[in-house]
Amino acid sequence: MKTKTVILLFLIVGGLLALFSKSFVYAEGNTLKNYYCSKCGTHIEAVNQPMMGNCQTGGGHSWRCLGEVGEKNYQCSKCGLIVKSKDTPYGGVPCKSGGGHNWKRIS
Ligand SMILES: [Zn+2]
Ligand SMILES: [Zn+2]
Repeated sequence: MKTKTVILLFLIVGGLLALFSKSFVYAEGNTLKNYYCSKCGTHIEAVNQPMMGNCQTGGGHSWRCLGEVGEKNYQCSKCGLIVKSKDTPYGGVPCKSGGGHNWKRIS
């Protein structure tokens, strides 16, 4: 009886761990995010941090993550950039026009 309980517990814990790791990989591996180069103002949507590439201001792009891509549209009232975002884009990302972006929800 005791052995059975241990086996049952083991199966439950193992199943939960498998579920957890699956959803973790899904959340980390397949979510489209907004990236913004604070040097040239280029915006792209990508799953992973983009390659540095060649920034038109010289050197490589300086990609900063703005958060997950979603159904809502936000516009920066300073540089005019529009991003589709799940929630208000991350603050603290430098705006091409100086300071931080000033996000306003437009739809
Ligand atoms: Zn750039
Ligand atoms: Zn801006």
